[in-house]
Amino acid sequence: MEIKAIHDAFLTCSGISTDTRKIQPKSMFVAIKGERFDANTFAAEALEKGASYVVIDNKDYYIDPRTILVRDSLEALQELARYHRNYLKLPIIALTGSNGKTTTKELIHAVLKQKFNAKATVGNLNNHIGVPLTLLSFTNETEIGIVEMGANHQKEIEFLCTIATPDYGYITNFGKAHLEGFGGTEGVIKGKSELYGYLGANNKMAFINLNDAIQAEKGQSLRRYEFGVQQPKAAVNIAQVSAKPFVEVSFDGVTIASKLIGLYNASNINAAIAIGKYFDISNEKIKQAIESYTPENNRSQILHKGGNEIILDAYNANPSSMAVAIENFLQLDKPNKIAILGDMFELGSESAAEHKALVTSVADVDDVDFIFIGREFSNNSLEREHFTFYESFDALAEFLDAHPLSGKTMLIKGSRGMALERVLDHLT
Ligand code: ATP
Ligand code: MG
Repeated sequence: MEIKAIHDAFLTCSGISTDTRKIQPKSMFVAIKGERFDANTFAAEALEKGASYVVIDNKDYYIDPRTILVRDSLEALQELARYHRNYLKLPIIALTGSNGKTTTKELIHAVLKQKFNAKATVGNLNNHIGVPLTLLSFTNETEIGIVEMGANHQKEIEFLCTIATPDYGYITNFGKAHLEGFGGTEGVIKGKSELYGYLGANNKMAFINLNDAIQAEKGQSLRRYEFGVQQPKAAVNIAQVSAKPFVEVSFDGVTIASKLIGLYNASNINAAIAIGKYFDISNEKIKQAIESYTPENNRSQILHKGGNEIILDAYNANPSSMAVAIENFLQLDKPNKIAILGDMFELGSESAAEHKALVTSVADVDDVDFIFIGREFSNNSLEREHFTFYESFDALAEFLDAHPLSGKTMLIKGSRGMALERVLDHLT
């Protein structure tokens, strides 16, 4: 079937999904072959659940005219998104970077909603399936779209740009995430810069954080809107930032008291301020939007349990986000500090060195206890009085159950796979 015909069918639908568990009545279901199962086998179930159309790529599962047979369902989804994006013609802001994409996306969304019917990526749907689904969630009523783009290897952002064709772009940072797939730090810079490549080649605009040396340099050749802390030459000059522990940011005589912790969030907030100002949103509305945003999903939350104050940042971790989180924690003026840190995944051949470097970097800190969990940390252990290493979460849990912690200020951070929010179950 021609893409236009598929798009016509899509326009009559209530939405689109690739997950049979989330089928809505009158929606379009796209059956994509995953690693573990082939969604073609769910085509009939999708129709039974009320889907108007199912897109399949195996003729053996053809049911009736509600079945749209294509050569490759994933490619069809991407083509459909590309077609829809051109059909809507709305301005799109693309976000990528190693850390802080979702937080920045949410902040920008909150700010732009003050004036526009703005829509953004839901949750973390930021890959070759999520980006098309995000674009297809935009409608004729949407006035501006904010699209999070994730990548763990080269050419991924370049490809996502061909679908989303953004008018504006922002790279949150160039950190040490997904080193394995990108081929080291240089690889990360190259991979993330594919967004700049797209913007440059198409004369589109980049938002540039002048406090980031790589952005400041790479941005020079682009059409750009600059911001930064103590950057009088920038379009938006942020006077001051602090984190005690909640981040406060001042600009134009306005102070924003956010509900975000960790100084690294200041750059995420600054980006949202700059983008808000670019789109002519008043300082008062920008302040309101940012102050009412609270993070979800174990991302930098402050909790209280068992007489402890806990900074729960268990959503993910990589060397750069770990370093900023620790730096921030060390500066916190609180008694009885303890950091519970879990392994950082996807570091490939640099894993041992990165875990060792992290352990070494806090070897001389004398007012914080460190508990390291996971095989990589344990393999790179260092003997220090304030260090404890556990190979597995279970070993830590056993310790916590036998020695309940109380009166501590805690930082909990590790890769998603470590699921360190489980620590909370062992604090009474
Ligand atoms: P993902 O790759 O999972 O989509 P993301 O880039 O969307 O991640 P967030 O979910 O916003 O990032 O934040 C994840 C974690 O990254 C935070 O909890 C925090 O530890 C860290 N982080 C957030 N912003 C920054 C930043 N600007 N610089 C460094 N680390 C950051
Ligand atoms: Mg994200």
